[in-house]
Amino acid sequence: MEELLLVKYGEISLKGKNRYQFEAALMDHIRFVVGEYPGARLEKAYGRVYIHSVPGERNVLRRLAKIPGIVAVAPALRVENEIIKIRDVAVEAAKRALEMLDGTSTATFKAESRRSLKSFPLTSPQISHEVGSAVLAAGLGLTVDVHRPSFVINVEVREKGTFVYWHEVRGMGGLPLGSSGRGIVLLSGGIDSPVAAYLAMKRGVALEALHFWSFPITGERARDKVVRIWRVLKDFDPQMRLHIAHFTKIQTAIMESCPEKYRVTVMRRMMMRVSTRLAERVGALAIFTGENLGQVASQTLESMAVIEDTAGVPVLRPLLTYDKRETVEIAERIGTYELSCLPYEDCCTVFVPKHPVTKPRLELVRDAEKALPVDELVEECVRGIETLER
Ligand code: ATP
Ligand code: MG
Repeated sequence: MEELLLVKYGEISLKGKNRYQFEAALMDHIRFVVGEYPGARLEKAYGRVYIHSVPGERNVLRRLAKIPGIVAVAPALRVENEIIKIRDVAVEAAKRALEMLDGTSTATFKAESRRSLKSFPLTSPQISHEVGSAVLAAGLGLTVDVHRPSFVINVEVREKGTFVYWHEVRGMGGLPLGSSGRGIVLLSGGIDSPVAAYLAMKRGVALEALHFWSFPITGERARDKVVRIWRVLKDFDPQMRLHIAHFTKIQTAIMESCPEKYRVTVMRRMMMRVSTRLAERVGALAIFTGENLGQVASQTLESMAVIEDTAGVPVLRPLLTYDKRETVEIAERIGTYELSCLPYEDCCTVFVPKHPVTKPRLELVRDAEKALPVDELVEECVRGIETLER
């Protein structure tokens, strides 16, 4: 009998020829997370990755559960494909499940089996029957409940042996990083953009974060807040970098030269121009934002169209149709909510006029921009981008 971690992943199989590449990306990510354990070794099978020599502790499981593409992680036991041994291991699994339940006297279980190895002499129901009777005979005080068991003993008979597990931690699902290409996420320090980043990563987008920082209009603490949020997001993608664009000069120029009601629109258009340049530099195929339909003046369909006019790649908005409550739920779950609620102002809050236009007209906004040396400002801002790796 051997102890290991069993990782389930899904959906990659839909991706045809590129599957191997995405599986390799997933393996790299897992390796990165378990790298600190000496002797950690990965083994791949169809729809599964087995991790050897890494303890099945809660914090390890939790970290693995944050890898995009992973459906579930379970500590497991492996034995040879012989029913007598499988029965013994199932009893061991039941004991461990009972330990987790902490002395419940009326615990129930059921056995579920899956036979991928078709040459194995027993069918799945027969395997479950064997396992069930072995556990009942072990004198652990357990009874069977097929509808609402306290735990399930899962048995998977595969080419590489039989795997038995009794509980699993749900992973974030989705697709491995990079399988949907690369993107830029505009990270503001608010509640929405970290959630947008999470959702993009979940669907396999490898992200680069970009924050527009207007020092001293917004202070060091505003910057620090974004850095802290970014670090939380790095749990999902350890390679994610944070780019900080110094935006003060652009903001000041807008304040000085553009009619107040167009300020926000022009500012967003400038952000899009800078983002597009960064996208070209890092090979990103889209810009992700935390925008949400109808939430504020710049988030009407009319506004989005006028802002997007300056973007050279698609602007994608994972939260477009979310209610605030739904976004907050995710922010709490992924651990960014509290940080986002820290009180330091972002450049937009400082900058927003009393009456921004909600339905800007493109020609008028373009006119308003004529007062600005747009290309020069963008060029200088792009050149000054600072990049943090960790
Ligand atoms: P968030 O909670 O993400 O700040 P929000 O609902 O407050 O979103 P806005 O402040 O209008 O909305 O910003 C809309 C989107 O524009 C943000 O979700 C973010 O993607 C981007 N954005 C706004 N300000 C910045 C900034 N200073 N740096 C980078 N991106 C920004
Ligand atoms: Mg905001």
